[in-house]
This record gives sequence, C-alpha cells and structure tokens, in this order.
Amino acid sequence: MARKRALIEYRRKRHFDKTSEPAGRPVRKRGKRLRFVIQKHAASRLHFDLRLELDGVMKSWAVPKGPSYDPRVKRLAMEVEDHPIEYNAFEGTIPEGEYGAGTVMIWDRGTYAPEDGRGEPAVRAGFERGDLKIVLRGKRMLGGWVLVRTRRDARGRAQWLLIKHRDEVATADIDVVAEATTSVTTGRTMEEIAAGVSARRTGAGASRRKRPSPRRRRSTRSTS
Ligand code: MN
Repeated sequence: MARKRALIEYRRKRHFDKTSEPAGRPVRKRGKRLRFVIQKHAASRLHFDLRLELDGVMKSWAVPKGPSYDPRVKRLAMEVEDHPIEYNAFEGTIPEGEYGAGTVMIWDRGTYAPEDGRGEPAVRAGFERGDLKIVLRGKRMLGGWVLVRTRRDARGRAQWLLIKHRDEVATADIDVVAEATTSVTTGRTMEEIAAGVSARRTGAGASRRKRPSPRRRRSTRSTS
C-alpha cells in the first residue's frame, strides 16, 4: 500500500477544526514493538474499535460486541479505514454532526506480535491473506487471537471474525466487555469522559504515565 495514500479516507471523513481527533500522518517505525489499541466508542451504535499497527498506520476494525475470551465465540469485526498512530492516545467526545459523533474511551492498549514471531512482514502477509494470528500484550487483552476475513459487504468492505485462541488465558467464564468498563489510561467511565471529568490519578485503571491528553504527542517509545 502506498504510504502517501494512507489515511486519505480517514481525513476525508473528518473536520479537524471541529473534532479533537488527530489529523495524523503515516509514520516510519521507531520502536521494535507493534502497538495495538481498543477503543470503546458510543457512536450511533456502541462498538469497540480494534486497531493494530502496521506500516505506519493503525489497521482498524469495528467490533460491535467487543472481544470474547471464549474460543467458541466468533465476534464480527468490520474493517474500517486506517487510522493514524496518534489515534491510540485519543479519548474524548467527537462532536454532534461529525463523523463518528460520540464518546471514545481507550479501553485497552499495549503491544502485539504475529503468532509465528516473524515481525511486521508476517503481520502484513496475514492481513493480506485474511488470516491474522496474533499475540496481544495489553492489560485486558492477552494471549493469542485470530482475525479471519470471511467476506466483503455490498460496499466492498471486508468482514472479519475476531476469535480467541485456545490458550491458558482463554475462558468462557469471563465477560471482559461487561467487567471492564473504565478507561485503561484515565480510569474514567464513558459517562465521565462524556462529562469531561478529569482523569483519575489512582486506582486500577490509572495510567503508568501522566494524564494523557488527546492533543499531546505520544513519546516515541512504546509505553509497554
Ligand atoms: Mn468507531
């Protein structure tokens, strides 16, 4: 994919004088680890956005029901436009009338790697093949997961399934989406983010770094 064509669709959909989302740009890889983020997004329909770093952008999927740790459960994941890497730090509310209007929470983030350990080329190959096996190292997302492309919808958009691999953390006994309801970086609930309540500094959900601001650039190092 041509690097300069990346993010065109992302930018076309947004007015950066109205939304506080980052305009972003494709960036060359700096760290060794690939980053991932999952954002909980109360748009017209609540969903979870899974984003995986690849080739300087975040490949993105909207997962209506969010992830499940039960390997028997297949969660629909609709491929959406690439997002800038800076989007990983975005938490806030997209204003009414703008694309994706509604509140966005950083539900989880961390690093990931292809299951076979062969780095970014293996991720690229898996993405293009439509069979992407990865290992996530987040706070809430751990262990092996697979994304399998199933078909394209009428608009040509790819539909995938997000499935937990059978491993030592797989379980049918935890509903992670129901149990984890606060931001992994600020500790806030969706209601608190919507109300503009400031970040909690203590507690399980508090970030290891200082209060993240959507406008502040991430450091070049991975935080995990
Ligand atoms: Mn979304």
